[in-house]
Amino acid sequence: MPELPEVETVRRGLVPAMEGRRIVAADIRRPDLRWPLPEKMGERLTGARVLALRRRSKYILGELDTGETLLIHLGMSGRILISGHAVGDFVHEASTPQKHDHVILDMDGGARVTMNDARRFGAMDLIATKDLDAHPLLAGLGPEPFGNAFSEPYLVRRLAGRKTPIKAALLDQKVVAGLGNIYVCEALHRARISPKRLAGRVSAERVGRLVPVIRAVLEEAIAAGGSSLRDHRQTDGELGYFQHSFRVYGREGQPCMTDGCPGEVRRIVQSGRSTFYCPVCQR
Ligand SMILES: [Zn+2]
Repeated sequence: MPELPEVETVRRGLVPAMEGRRIVAADIRRPDLRWPLPEKMGERLTGARVLALRRRSKYILGELDTGETLLIHLGMSGRILISGHAVGDFVHEASTPQKHDHVILDMDGGARVTMNDARRFGAMDLIATKDLDAHPLLAGLGPEPFGNAFSEPYLVRRLAGRKTPIKAALLDQKVVAGLGNIYVCEALHRARISPKRLAGRVSAERVGRLVPVIRAVLEEAIAAGGSSLRDHRQTDGELGYFQHSFRVYGREGQPCMTDGCPGEVRRIVQSGRSTFYCPVCQR
């Protein structure tokens, strides 16, 4: 499941191909992904210029000059590939559509953007830009982790008195948008906070410390994605998936990486999801 850094990496990879460019052809090759695709999607996209390509939580939002915004969600297995003529560094040949290539956008710069999704848990939608915030997938989302609204006082206020484990509280998309299982584990490890501790029982000082820590783990992963993007441009044009080494996630039974900590990473299950943490330095 792509997390925020992967989605941000895909967005950055798409910017040179799509931003400021006009969609000259839109080939919608099936009626649905996870949900039905919007009616007359091809007609509504063809001729539209992409004014800006943004990200909200794990959604890529292409604002069009038609007054609509194209929403892209990668779901579990969604992939985006860029091919076609040289745009920036992209020099991949546009090939004949492959199995699971569901939506193909040809841009006026010569790039072809292909949405491929074998399991079809992904989604695409077209929404009136003025109504974007009310869209069911976007309404109620908390602040972006990099936004000013995600501040230390905000998080302290939001977690005060909460009787759920801090890990669950941070996964709550109403608290902070786009944070997923991997990066919550990483942030709690770096902040040395036990994932089992009730959110309302973590001191304000330690909760406040989480804000810069969450930003740091996401920024590092995005930076790793950026370097993978450069590699991918030389290979198959697929955006966004990269090897990134985690300090705690997926490291069950291995030594804790906190300086001087003799602990061993342990895995537990919380709300049906794996949590990796160090019982020695995370309190
Ligand atoms: Zn440790």
